[in-house]
Amino acid sequence: MKDTHKHQGLRNQLAKILEEKGITDKNVLTAIANVPRHLFMDSGFVDFAYQDKAFPIAADQTISQPYTVAFQTELLQVKPAHEILEIGTGSGYQTAVLIEMDAKVYTIERQNELFKKTKLFLPKIGYKPKKMIFGDGYKGLIENAPFDGIIVTAGAPFVPNALLAQLKIGGRLVIPIGDDLQTMTLFIRTSEKDFEKHELGKFRFVPMLKKRN
Ligand code: SAH
Repeated sequence: MKDTHKHQGLRNQLAKILEEKGITDKNVLTAIANVPRHLFMDSGFVDFAYQDKAFPIAADQTISQPYTVAFQTELLQVKPAHEILEIGTGSGYQTAVLIEMDAKVYTIERQNELFKKTKLFLPKIGYKPKKMIFGDGYKGLIENAPFDGIIVTAGAPFVPNALLAQLKIGGRLVIPIGDDLQTMTLFIRTSEKDFEKHELGKFRFVPMLKKRN
């Protein structure tokens, strides 16, 4: 599978649609217009890659809807060289969007099948995360903390304290909280002990799970 002018055209259209839906951060829109989403999808779905929809990937997981990726990324307020922790590597699409924005990305996946696949795939198309880990996102990544931003891309039943504790002062945690339907929640660390909390609408994610497999 190659990247072509046709794909580039579809991506530009997708970025325009996301702008119409309310995404304003130009760097996010540029990243969406640059990352070849069709390469992250199983071949049967390639024709749909630039629709604003979630799609199945391996291990019963999904590649998030582009709008959701853009919405979460915008909330992170990524700046070049920011240290960002992602929970739920999945296809690696969100990881690639963050790397496009010159973030240093640490990403954790708890499904070995996806972890192995994406660990090989991302560098092959030129995206090199700082670290890719097969592990439990509830724990965060203490050895590389604190982070400028933490993004959770699975529905969390509650806010893991470890993730709040691993934010820099001024750092942002973007996490969808809830069981069937999640509330997108932004925590901003304002001091050692204090966090601002903002709730930003309803989304639907695959669940963040405890057990590894
Ligand atoms: N960011 C991904 C979204 C994948 S869906 C993308 O752009 O494709 C969410 C992912 O979170 C799944 O791959 C799932 O296996 C993973 N996940 C679920 N629970 C997790 C946990 N406790 N720790 C790390 N990853 C988890």
